[in-house]
Amino acid sequence: MADRTVLAGARVVLPTGIIENGRVIVEGGRIVGAGAFESGAEAPAGTRALDLTGHWVVPGFVDTHNHGGGGASFTSGTVDEVLKGVHTHRLHGTTTTVASFVTGDMDFLGRRAGLLSELAEQGEIAGLHFEGPFISPCRKGAHDETLLRDPDPAEVRKLIDAGRGQARMVTLATELPGGVDSVRLLAEHGVIAAIGHTDATYEQTVEAIDAGATVATHLYNAMPGLGHRTPGPIAALLEDERITVELINDGTHLHPAALELAFHHAGPDRVAFITDAMDAAGFGDGRYMLGTLEVEVKDSVARLVEGGSIAGSTLTLDRAFKRAVTIDRLPVESVVRAISANPARLLGIDDRVGSLEPGKDADLVVLDEEFDLKGVMRKGAWVVEPRPA
Ligand SMILES: [Zn+2]
Repeated sequence: MADRTVLAGARVVLPTGIIENGRVIVEGGRIVGAGAFESGAEAPAGTRALDLTGHWVVPGFVDTHNHGGGGASFTSGTVDEVLKGVHTHRLHGTTTTVASFVTGDMDFLGRRAGLLSELAEQGEIAGLHFEGPFISPCRKGAHDETLLRDPDPAEVRKLIDAGRGQARMVTLATELPGGVDSVRLLAEHGVIAAIGHTDATYEQTVEAIDAGATVATHLYNAMPGLGHRTPGPIAALLEDERITVELINDGTHLHPAALELAFHHAGPDRVAFITDAMDAAGFGDGRYMLGTLEVEVKDSVARLVEGGSIAGSTLTLDRAFKRAVTIDRLPVESVVRAISANPARLLGIDDRVGSLEPGKDADLVVLDEEFDLKGVMRKGAWVVEPRPA
């Protein structure tokens, strides 16, 4: 007997557009059908139907830049704590999470990469992202300056190797000595070179893109602003078709107009919404550690105790989604691309996740008409079970 679930009556967002009164059929952890409801079609035995009239069904969210949540840090937590952090984000719709490390000592980062590579092998996380230590002291944000270093390709290589095939992304300031060579090395190894925490000029950024960089780490944040004679990295990153720009849509990191400008200029296929979340996401205000630095979270805004720099976010992607639709007034289809399809493609896992298509993992999110999260399914199992009225 088939263990088949049919989600019916919802607005379903497919790569081709929105289907009114659509349905998604799930079997064996995968999507086996997604599209318009066919009236009169015979449901096979063993089918469970769930009426989601008045709801949206969208693909599960994919977060390529996330440092933790639920009180747990990916940089320093135990395996159980890391899993708790991952689960916290799942409760908010993120069915695919890349674990990001903040700057640390090289040996420490190597050990962390080894430890978390096992979680990636088990499918709990979608790989590792090293944000630092190869970043600019001028744009260090919430990274420990004493541990920063120039991006020596041999050391970049060490970190990749420590990840045992699970390193997905390295954020670096490509203008530093060894930066462009490191970009080449990353590209050769199939690891995303992300330009960020950078003081690069426009020209230096173009050089790094030509060398193989493909991502802008949280565009606008931790880089020089857009000047009329010094367009800097922002102009270079926005204009180049090869670059996907990460945006932290929490209302704190970016002015809505800055977000709109990036979205408009790069287009919906070149934007990836990220959380850049730290431990307090889905947890609460208080004192936390971000790597080696102390952070105070007040009214959901995380700042370094010393100096007051913004220290990651407390964002979850369900909030980023709702904000994008209701405040930024972006079309739902564009938001789905930015929050699911584009990051999945970036990670090279779009054959399995990132859209509602037959053959892919049954990773999906149910939202109500106000775009509040009502359900989350991951690999065919409910993480949050919707209870439609
Ligand atoms: Zn980060």
